[in-house]
Amino acid sequence: MNAGVEALRREIAARADGLPDTVVMEVCGTHTHAMRRYGIRQLLPGNIRLVSGPGCPVCVTDGRDLARALWLAGQRNVTLCCFGDMLRVPCGKESLLSLAAKGARVRVVVSPLEALQLARAEPRRAIVYFGVGFETTAPLTAALVDQAGRQSIPNLSVLSVHKTMPEAVRTLMRSGARVDALLCPGHVAAVAGAEAFRFVPEELRLPAAVSGFEAEEMLLALAALMGMLRAKKPGLVNAYPRAAAPYGNPAALALLEGVFEPRAANWRGLGEIPASGLALRGEYAGFDAEKRFDIPLTDVPEPAGCRCADVLRGLLEPPECPLFGSACAPQSPVGACMVSSEGACAAHYAYGRDL
Ligand code: SF4
Repeated sequence: MNAGVEALRREIAARADGLPDTVVMEVCGTHTHAMRRYGIRQLLPGNIRLVSGPGCPVCVTDGRDLARALWLAGQRNVTLCCFGDMLRVPCGKESLLSLAAKGARVRVVVSPLEALQLARAEPRRAIVYFGVGFETTAPLTAALVDQAGRQSIPNLSVLSVHKTMPEAVRTLMRSGARVDALLCPGHVAAVAGAEAFRFVPEELRLPAAVSGFEAEEMLLALAALMGMLRAKKPGLVNAYPRAAAPYGNPAALALLEGVFEPRAANWRGLGEIPASGLALRGEYAGFDAEKRFDIPLTDVPEPAGCRCADVLRGLLEPPECPLFGSACAPQSPVGACMVSSEGACAAHYAYGRDL
């Protein structure tokens, strides 16, 4: 253990000494994995418990939204572009991967702008980009739509199920979640600004710390949370100032604002949350897959026995799901939380039940 980590571990232990059992929610799936990869849980005193939240974008994509993507992928003249994490998420008896195996054109991309290249290369096909993710990835989709407009690419459209974090956190905390402090996602704050989480202490009366993803950054944020809990003074600490400015990234925010507008979104585990999703603005209707295609709405029940909804609300540790590690494992996932590289169940499976 390096000296910096050891000093922070001691500082956390000193500040947490005498606190009652304390639950810290790491909102973001990237934190969930980073915490377990670095063994952060093992460094914390026994009265501090970390729980995962609704910050894995693949996991919170609702079954109905996934069904819309599958419907599009099943259309004869459509190529659906998406990130690789979405491929294996079960949707009833199918997934994008199973449709691809039956001949559907599903293209994995690492950047939304690849969809633009594909649309230019295949002008007779309808190219649909499946936009999934939070403030972190939504600006890339906005850039795609902006470029498609500037270059007049008529065969490109976007199915946006992008979501924004603050309203989901508000809804979850107001639903009575047993959480004492929030570790806020640094990459969301890098775009939206650390001040986007100011509502956590001011409205919810909970301490919040924006954190990066290195071990020392997460420990620094946890030390800040323990200090605020000990002093009983909830506030907002930006422990990731190297990437997250108070008011975010102006260029990314301008792109988001120009292309998207807020709308209600369906979250797996949380239901419909007003103003927590991003829809294309009216001037971009020509690039909106929801307007270009008559996509049916299909209810998709959660897989039998899957407890993803409880995991995403921080009510259940993944190993407490009866299917964890037996019927549900990364090679045969039952629920979204085991599929995604940011999913809490995948993190517990990869790094061990006890970390
Ligand atoms: Fe769902 Fe599998 Fe996680 Fe259980 S272990 S909650 S079935 S993803």
